[in-house]
Amino acid sequence: MSDLLELTAAQAAARVRAGELDPADLWHGYRERAAADDLNAFTWVSDRDEPEAIDGDAPLGGVPIGVKDLFCTAGIPSQAGSRILEGFRPPYTATAVERLTAAGAPVLGKTNQDEFAMGSSTENSAYGPTLNPWDRTRVPGGSSGGSAAAVAAGSVPWSIGTDTGGSIRQPAALCGIVGLKPTYGAISRYGMIAFASSLDQAGPFTRDTTDAALLLAAMAGKDPCDSTSLGLPEPVRLPEATDLKGVRLGVPEELTGEGIEPGVLEAFRATLDLARELGATVETTHLPHAPQGLAASYLIAPAECSSNLARYDGVRYGHRADAPDLLTMYTRTREEGFGAEVKRRVMLGTYALSSGYYDAYYGRAQKVRTLIARDFDYSWERFDFIVSPTAPGVAFELGAKTADPLAMYLNDFCTVPMSLAGIPAISIPNGLADGLPVGFQIAGPAFSENRILDAAHALEQAIGFDGSAGRA
Ligand code: GLN
Repeated sequence: MSDLLELTAAQAAARVRAGELDPADLWHGYRERAAADDLNAFTWVSDRDEPEAIDGDAPLGGVPIGVKDLFCTAGIPSQAGSRILEGFRPPYTATAVERLTAAGAPVLGKTNQDEFAMGSSTENSAYGPTLNPWDRTRVPGGSSGGSAAAVAAGSVPWSIGTDTGGSIRQPAALCGIVGLKPTYGAISRYGMIAFASSLDQAGPFTRDTTDAALLLAAMAGKDPCDSTSLGLPEPVRLPEATDLKGVRLGVPEELTGEGIEPGVLEAFRATLDLARELGATVETTHLPHAPQGLAASYLIAPAECSSNLARYDGVRYGHRADAPDLLTMYTRTREEGFGAEVKRRVMLGTYALSSGYYDAYYGRAQKVRTLIARDFDYSWERFDFIVSPTAPGVAFELGAKTADPLAMYLNDFCTVPMSLAGIPAISIPNGLADGLPVGFQIAGPAFSENRILDAAHALEQAIGFDGSAGRA
């Protein structure tokens, strides 16, 4: 198994296709590791002794995958990290997961997450926090912390998560792996338990950019079950670039100054130097409205969640409280079933949408969203990509920010603007600060995934990040 563990998913898939590796061995090896997981990265691990039969030529080669709990998987617990969905086994499977299975990636386990994807540390899970494999006293980031920790720890070769304001990129950064948030609409949201529908986007967690491209290629596509899905305009290519000749990088002052830890900035600058050596031009620029992204996002996302979460009434799914009458049943179910952060968001969102306040809060947040999207549009006239640190700091201690929601929200400072603009962004590991992984974020215009993956690939080769400490 230790040799298998050193293979990336693409390498393992290639061996399967060449007839040199039996996918059942991969399944057994990883199932053993996932079952022995002591990071609380999984909420469910398959008990199948043998994987579902796969076609040996399938693009994903039978390499097993971890799936964030909020993706509906038929007959398998899908609880979105919430008590209110305890025991919920959906009758159908999310399109993204269907596509992965069809492409030859069997589901090995469901991964832990912040309740309904609300959080930046996975401490808001009703099923206990996930630990960071680099340092078990620290968080893996969130909300897709289980997916990130499982890949970083080598208990699964790759996984998927969702990103509403940073929930793929930030945990990828804190765990020293690659995380990609595609263009909004690239991947169907059908069967993804909704947090904020105008922002939610599925994407891969992988050890390298090649694996990320493989998963994106398998998942992307228009889906008749999600009218906001678009797919991608061109096929996803496996990234091959080894230089950045002619690539223009914009470094926004707003995302690279105050509030970013010195060790993170140091790693960021070292990567910019590498980018220059690879032929890129690097210039300072501005995203004047990006600093308002957090405020806008923390109005828009709660507003949408207050509506999305109205469906948990004790009638249709999961938990139902004992009560003498219907109204008491509704309120008691929600009182018992939702955690503190979810209640805070539902209350904030309901308030922001209430008549009399709608224009002052929700309406204004939407205007800020437009201004942020325009900041990016102007950037593309001069730059191919906007780059920044992914998260302002390294993985923090468990419990360090649980009592201070605003400190927790600040984790999304560098990732929220891209979510509001609907544009793709990747985080790749670019070194360590204080012995903990740091991420480098590359954002591009809508549908520039192929170019982003190429740039990330060139940098990845030059950085040569060694993630083996996380898997030890
Ligand atoms: N951390 C942000 C939040 O709590 C974003 C989470 C996400 O991207 N799902 O809302």
